[in-house]
Amino acid sequence: MTLEARNIHVTLKNNAILKGVSLSVPKGKLIGLIGPNGAGKSTLLRAILGLVTPQCGSIVLDGEELSDWTLKERAKKISYAAQGAPVHWPLDVRHIISLGRIPHLDPWQKVSGMDEHLIHQAMIKTDTLHLIDRLVTTLSGGERACVMLARAIVSMADYLCADEPIASLDPYHQLQVMDILQELAKEGHGVLIVLHDLSLAQRYCDELVLMHQGEILSFGDVETVLTPENLDKAYHIRASRWQENGDSFLSPWKISGRPRH
Ligand code: ADP
Ligand code: MG
Repeated sequence: MTLEARNIHVTLKNNAILKGVSLSVPKGKLIGLIGPNGAGKSTLLRAILGLVTPQCGSIVLDGEELSDWTLKERAKKISYAAQGAPVHWPLDVRHIISLGRIPHLDPWQKVSGMDEHLIHQAMIKTDTLHLIDRLVTTLSGGERACVMLARAIVSMADYLCADEPIASLDPYHQLQVMDILQELAKEGHGVLIVLHDLSLAQRYCDELVLMHQGEILSFGDVETVLTPENLDKAYHIRASRWQENGDSFLSPWKISGRPRH
């Protein structure tokens, strides 16, 4: 069972943004989508969610074209936490998180005791219980990111796509969110996340997909993807690497060139 992008081409305002991109998110795996700013990561996520229509290629959800699934079925199967956790309405945190249960409810049906239980559990998991009555528009970027992750978790979707879910978090909450995402993958969900932190990507992700200028430069296990050559080509950086107690670590260290736009 997988969520797949097959040969996706997206052109926006006459610019080729995705040029034949393919990736696969199997259930039970945490896949990290990495690459420099502007590489096309968010556009790829939006295409996978059906929020951008590719000119060519297909999105395949558990063996069937995404377009063959109804919107409600899609929302049950795939949850999404957008980049920057944007929120447009001044709703309280409990209400925002409960919106994640909507795909499972009939029109006008209220959340049940079971839904309330899932919401409570997700708030404990994401350390957001103390924010329960706050208006989401008054939260810090990091607090909002944790709330939007809780909303994605309560939907209990098979696949979770999160766009830079740890970008605005302090180190404690970065590790906490990565632990949650890894646990979700171990529980059998397919998890696709965009991230810039290469050391956390290396430490937590089962597989990485490295995008560069609208194409996949490399994919596979972390050793295959995070090579000096790939880091130089995609990011124009060198990384420092070391080993400790049998684990390998990597930290961006030096600029090796200038990006060309
Ligand atoms: P990433 O998430 O990897 O930083 P994005 O997918 O957001 O990159 O954007 C990839 C490229 O597509 C960027 O050059 C961006 O400016 C461009 N782009 C994104 N959305 C639009 C749009 N609606 N219209 C025109 N260009 C866009
Ligand atoms: Mg982005």
